[in-house]
Amino acid sequence: NERIPSPSPLCGEPDDAAIRPARLDEFVGQPQIKEALAIAIAAAKQRGESLDHVLFSGPPGLGKTTLAQIIAREMGAGIRSTTGPVLERPGDLAAQLTALAHGDVLFIDEIHRLNPVVEEILYPAMEDSCIDVMIGEGPGARSVQLPLEEFTLIGATTKVGLLGSPLRDRFGFIFRLNLYEVPDLAKIVERSAGIMQIPITPEGADEIAKRSRGTPRIANRLLRRVRDFATVRGDGRIDAETADRALTMLGIDHLGLDDLDRRILSVIADDFGGGPVGVRTIAISVGEEVRTIEEVYEPYLIQIGFIKRTPQGRETTGAALRHLGSGLR
Ligand code: ADP
Repeated sequence: NERIPSPSPLCGEPDDAAIRPARLDEFVGQPQIKEALAIAIAAAKQRGESLDHVLFSGPPGLGKTTLAQIIAREMGAGIRSTTGPVLERPGDLAAQLTALAHGDVLFIDEIHRLNPVVEEILYPAMEDSCIDVMIGEGPGARSVQLPLEEFTLIGATTKVGLLGSPLRDRFGFIFRLNLYEVPDLAKIVERSAGIMQIPITPEGADEIAKRSRGTPRIANRLLRRVRDFATVRGDGRIDAETADRALTMLGIDHLGLDDLDRRILSVIADDFGGGPVGVRTIAISVGEEVRTIEEVYEPYLIQIGFIKRTPQGRETTGAALRHLGSGLR
C-alpha cells in the first residue's frame, strides 16, 4: 500500500540522502524562515552560544527534518534524531539527553506525540540544561538532578496546535512551513534531477511540480517514478509529455490528486450531499486513519479550495465538484 503522499519513506528511495539539501542556501523556498535562521545562527555563533530551541510545524515532507540537519551542520554541531512515539519512558529521553555533547542538536520528530510523563523531563532540560531522575523505587526512591551539556532542541510537528503551551512556550523560535508554490517545486525537481543525472526539460520539471501537492518529498517521489517510465518507454529524457503520461498512468491527475483524494471528495460530495460531514465519518468511509486524512490529505485539498472546514465538519466546494465531474481525473 505505497501511497505517493505517504509520510514514511517508501522502498527504493536510496538517493534521498544525496538530494537532501545540506546547506541553507541549497534549501529552496521558505525565504522568511531561511533568513530568520541565517541571522539566528550567525548571532549564536558570534556569541559562542548554542542556538535557542526551534520548533517547526507543517504537513509532512515540507523540509522540517532537512532544516534540523542543516541547522546542526551550519552550527558545526552533532545531531541525534528520534521521534515522539519512540520515547516511551522518561529513561528513553534521559538517555538521549545525557548522550549529547556540548552544543549538539537533539531532533524530535512528531514531538506532539510525546508521552506527557516524558514531556515533563524536557521542561527543565530546555530551560536549565538539567534533568531530574528518580533513583530507586518505593519509599526509598529519591530524585537527583543531573546537569546536561548545553544543547539545542529542534522539534517537528504537523500542527503547532497539537502541542501544549508549557512545551510550546519553551521554544525560542517557532516556524510554520507552508505548502510550496509550483515554481519552487520545479526548482527542487530540477535540482534533484541534476544530482540524479536525469535529463529533464523545464516543462517536464514544471509538469511534475504541478502535480506534487505543494510538497518537496512528493516532487522527488514523482520524479523517480517518471524517470522509470522515461527509461522504459522512452529514451530516458523527461519532457512535459513523458511526465504527463507517466503520472496519469500512476493515477495522479492534473492537480496531483490520487485515488484517495478523489474518494474523500466523493464521500463528502456524493454520499453526504456536499457536507458538512465529520472527519471521522470520512475516515471510516474511505478506510483510512483520521490522522492520515487530517495531516496528509486535507491540507492540500483545503489549499486548492476543494474542501472547506466548518465547525460542523467538512464541505466540498463548487471547484471540487467541477473537478470531479470534469473527466480530467
Ligand atoms: P519533513 O521532515 O517535513 O517531513 P523532510 O525534511 O524529510 O520533510 O523533507 C522531505 C524530502 O524533501 C527531503 O528528502 C528533501 O530532499 C526534500 N526537501 C524538503 N524541503 C526541501 C527544500 N526546501 N528544498 C529542496 N528539497 C527539499
